[in-house]
Amino acid sequence: MTDSVLIVGSGMAGLHAAKACADAGARAIVVERGPVVGGRLAATLFDPAGIGERSEGMRTPLMEMLENNENIEIITLAGLERLEGRPGHFSVAIRERQRFVTDDCTRCKNCHTVCPVVRPNEYDAGLTFRKAIYTPMSDTMPPAWVIDIESCLNTPPNYLPCQQCVEVCDDHAIFFNLPLETVHERQVGAVILAPGFRTEDPARFADVGYGAHPDVVSSAEMQRLLESPGPTGGFASKPSDEAYPESVLLVLDNPSHFALYIVASQVRQLLAQDVEIVAVLILASPGEEQEKMRELASESGIEVHWGALFKVDPGEENVLEVSYEDLSAHRFVRASYDMVVMCNDVEPPEGLAELAAVAGVDLDPGGYILAGDGNAVETSRPGVFVAGCASGPKNIRDSLSAAQLAATSATALIDPRLLQPEGTEAPAEASAAKPTGMPPDDMRQQIEQLLYALIDR
Ligand code: SF4
Ligand code: SF4
Repeated sequence: MTDSVLIVGSGMAGLHAAKACADAGARAIVVERGPVVGGRLAATLFDPAGIGERSEGMRTPLMEMLENNENIEIITLAGLERLEGRPGHFSVAIRERQRFVTDDCTRCKNCHTVCPVVRPNEYDAGLTFRKAIYTPMSDTMPPAWVIDIESCLNTPPNYLPCQQCVEVCDDHAIFFNLPLETVHERQVGAVILAPGFRTEDPARFADVGYGAHPDVVSSAEMQRLLESPGPTGGFASKPSDEAYPESVLLVLDNPSHFALYIVASQVRQLLAQDVEIVAVLILASPGEEQEKMRELASESGIEVHWGALFKVDPGEENVLEVSYEDLSAHRFVRASYDMVVMCNDVEPPEGLAELAAVAGVDLDPGGYILAGDGNAVETSRPGVFVAGCASGPKNIRDSLSAAQLAATSATALIDPRLLQPEGTEAPAEASAAKPTGMPPDDMRQQIEQLLYALIDR
């Protein structure tokens, strides 16, 4: 008999499921493959104002709840290695990789200064760089820094004994002689798979101009610019010269609900930052309602165009020349913008097929975990549930509601006598049921509905 639920993934959906399980009195074991919790939206979890909103970088109630909730255990740098048994009685093995930096780390940054290895920071969409010993962002859980052992000079295949970080670490928090891996054996009643998503490689847009100029960015890069812990403090400044853009064009070629959600979010934030011209170019034919849609767009303060044969070229005076065929006006258009955002869609997360194989669940033809229709959370294996984008792209609201449903289904498999809701209460303000990323907002909803209407017509 067990009171535990295993949750694979610590993005919005995984953490929300963990909170819901803990609230129901179960013990939630969260396994995260990366060095810090939060997944792709890790920065957002530290940003109380929501995705991409500027803020003071305060910690969110969700993160405070995680720190204070004894019913939630988080294992980072870890993955599911084995899952055996049946609903209510699963036996799991979790393999945890070594961090090489202990909890004694005080985040003093001394090691950052001396480490000679430089790598792109994946948590900043590659917009900034990190060292082989690093922290992905300014505030993390767990707080200890981590060594990317694949890049570190101290170990094969880079064997050039270095030790420089060890020499400057006054807190004696770095050890290279620790076991490389630890395997945790646990009993759980149910499993929730919430490994998140991966944004598609923006190199797909190379033939239309991505890479030709630094101010042509992917939506993942723009997202990072708009997040307060990001490299620009939350301002959409141009990567080429850090100047503030007066005009931004967002190009949408695969209008999935997820892409629309991101576009709507970024449009709203750009308007809130007083970007003078915010335009969306949809690479599709306009429908009959285009005039009505244009009116709606204009009321929202944005321009909407339907076009084809799109190309971006570097122009004079550091502006971008955009050329496309306007499919509503039937003419060729050339226009100048300060920044162009190529909206990349999402893909199944890296390693999802391997995770599905270990968990014994089926994938759909798109490579996502097979679940029922709509926001269903049941997988092909009883007792194993899915939440968030692992079963297909979803916006945050749908992800959170799936996480709640998965947690309810998972805890239903635990013997109720083992559940202890009392004492697991989070602080009143720490309710994860209130999505940290999406405060209600009329303007946002208006833009989102407009974009959805444009595509769903
Ligand atoms: S020098 Fe040591 S204490 Fe300072 S950030 Fe690096 S690992 Fe942490
Ligand atoms: S030992 Fe590795 S992590 Fe430490 S400074 Fe050298 S390369 Fe960087």
